[in-house]
Amino acid sequence: MAPASPATVAHAQGVLRGPVRSGNGRLMPELPEVETVCRGLAIALEGRRLTRVDVNRPDLRFPLPTDLTARLTGRRVERVWRRAKYIQVALDDQTVMLGHLGMSGRIVITPGLPNQIGPHDHIVFHVDDGTVLRFIDPRRFGMIDLATLSTLDQHKWLAALGPEPLDCSAFTAAVLHSASSAKRSPIKAVLLDQGVVAGLGNIYVSEALHHARIMPTRIASTLTRREAAALVKAIVTVLTKAIAAGGSSFSDHVQPSGELGYFQHSWAVYGREGEGCPGCDCETKVERIVQSNRSTFYCAKRQR
Ligand SMILES: [Zn+2]
Repeated sequence: MAPASPATVAHAQGVLRGPVRSGNGRLMPELPEVETVCRGLAIALEGRRLTRVDVNRPDLRFPLPTDLTARLTGRRVERVWRRAKYIQVALDDQTVMLGHLGMSGRIVITPGLPNQIGPHDHIVFHVDDGTVLRFIDPRRFGMIDLATLSTLDQHKWLAALGPEPLDCSAFTAAVLHSASSAKRSPIKAVLLDQGVVAGLGNIYVSEALHHARIMPTRIASTLTRREAAALVKAIVTVLTKAIAAGGSSFSDHVQPSGELGYFQHSWAVYGREGEGCPGCDCETKVERIVQSNRSTFYCAKRQR
């Protein structure tokens, strides 16, 4: 593999991370953010070899595989892609490294080794073109494990996951309606259940319910088939829009400040308590309630 030009390395420099925390609570990376990170990682890693992997502590949320360094070093990265909120990195020996950003995890790419390795730079990946990727996670809710490609879906983190929301043959109105029909919990809780649909979190559930005009507190079993169809469509719309805002090329993913494009996401209701409800003639303000210890944002007039 020929070394990358300085321009390529500079191009690939940046920070791949989840949303920053806001004053009113925790923001965890959801499907669009992880998708954006995976697309950035794919450009930096696919076809490249890992020449060195430094593991600077034994654990994140869980113990790291003790053979992590041994199994990654010298391997060529074949593919980087996403399942739910997991980053999947396939190597040329069928090993797959699974990663999750947790709450505070981010990946920083630099053209070479920085002068200082920070106290939260837990894993440092050296790539054959000189690029260095650091997995930085101050709160250590991130996760990394190794799996095998042929049995990837059976890995304990993935086995119980429901369909991908953007897989229109798997996540249909019928599937959502059937999953909701037996549940006496609020629809918000059903959408957060990763076994019903994979990858949604607090932000995009609020956004999709607003888009579909369904109250987050609605008991799931009362959803009509028509509402389930509207909700599936809304989920696809808000996720697709958010992924597009993350950027279609790597340079769009990384802002001059080093932050990813999705920091500029304009959410319709999420984090907007007391502000005007957009795309709606309700002339009312976005409200916030707490469901299962997490904020939900909605428009009381638009949503039923
Ligand atoms: Zn409204």
